[in-house]
Amino acid sequence: MTSIDLRSDTVTRPSPDMRRAMADAEVGDDERDGDPTTLRLERRVAELLGKERALFFPSGVMANQAAVNLHTRPGTEVILDQDAHIVHWEMAGVAALSGAQIRPVAPSGIVATADDMRRYVRPRARHMTSPSLVCVENTHNGAGGKIVPLSEMRAIRAFATELGLPVHMDGARLWNASVASGVPLHDFAACADTVMVAFSKGLGAPIGAAVAASGPAVDALWGIRKRFGGAMRQSGIIAAGALYGLEHNRSQLAQDHANARAFAGIVEGAGGATVVAPDTNIVMVDLPHGRQAAPLVQACAAAGVLLSGWSATRIRAVTHLDVTADQVRAAAEVLARELARA
Ligand SMILES: *Cc1c(COP(=O)(O)O)cnc(C)c1O
Repeated sequence: MTSIDLRSDTVTRPSPDMRRAMADAEVGDDERDGDPTTLRLERRVAELLGKERALFFPSGVMANQAAVNLHTRPGTEVILDQDAHIVHWEMAGVAALSGAQIRPVAPSGIVATADDMRRYVRPRARHMTSPSLVCVENTHNGAGGKIVPLSEMRAIRAFATELGLPVHMDGARLWNASVASGVPLHDFAACADTVMVAFSKGLGAPIGAAVAASGPAVDALWGIRKRFGGAMRQSGIIAAGALYGLEHNRSQLAQDHANARAFAGIVEGAGGATVVAPDTNIVMVDLPHGRQAAPLVQACAAAGVLLSGWSATRIRAVTHLDVTADQVRAAAEVLARELARA
């Protein structure tokens, strides 16, 4: 039996056409001269995000950490939502690689707003830690693929400007935010100095991310990428997969979003569970009192449906281009059935 895998949108495999594009990619030594396919990808990302340039990275984590390193100084702090990817899944890189600390902001609602962040600003005083960067994640994974709306992005940008701080956006799934909201990518990106986007999530590429920025920051970022071990050679082989995903798989994200809504509709209320209404392709299911995620995830796996235990009492399902609408509905029915079972 092949399972329906909704653990993440990173489980997608390159399609035959994507593989062909990769095999046929024109390549060169990217560190030395710029690889022609990588340069094409970087130009396309910069154009979509309305920045002067973009740099290709092997992973989103490395790209985020390089941007944090660009903006921060040792002994300062980074203001961001307490459930950001940078807080939970990047191996304390802000501290380990950049010598800065995290100022985690508890959201009053689902995702930290500019007003929430404002409550965490310390008075300027010589004996208090000072901030060097504001980060925002869009869509916000831990909150359930929530879109930070353009109005809020602008408020966060204005808040950072008041403090004289740069903004980095972790836009691993900014593609989803743009497709779901109809807001152009460059409008979101205009609210940040550096923008990270990932190719290995909903776009279905096997590997890769990019950071877009303007001005001299890009040259500094190039040096940081090299220092972090991220300068590559014939990277066009993988950049071609990313380019293919960008051009062919972006519009189909709308189908992933429809599938997530269908999943949520089937699971909502089953056995007393509540669902965070999905903005995009991530569905968070909060279990009723007394239910634990681990045995439920296990029971679903035994029935051919792979889900993630997000916390002890929360399960995550992610839709992506390797699952059909029928498979997503079937998976939701399996989870609803297991939830209804006492
Ligand atoms: C996946 C993800 C990353 C990291 O990307 P990788 O390419 O897996 O390193 C960063 N931020 C968010 C919000 C993500 O979902």
